[in-house]
Amino acid sequence: MANIVQINEATCTGCKNCVNLCPREILYIDEATGKCKVTDETKCDRMKGCERVCKSKSIKII
Ligand code: SF4
Ligand code: SF4
Repeated sequence: MANIVQINEATCTGCKNCVNLCPREILYIDEATGKCKVTDETKCDRMKGCERVCKSKSIKII
């Protein structure tokens, strides 16, 4: 069950839109890089809310 939540760190701006929206609270901003990361992606609801709020299209749900 790997790679449900795919994050493109090259384009992620660290805006936190997805972090604030995620109902499962599995997204966070890594302080070292300022980029979005996922904790336990098996908890993802796959409703793609994060995709819709990401203006740079840096997060994808497979
Ligand atoms: S699809 Fe939903 S539960 Fe999964 S990471 Fe995005 S906002 Fe969170
Ligand atoms: S909404 Fe997009 S740009 Fe903003 S933190 Fe999430 S993945 Fe990064």
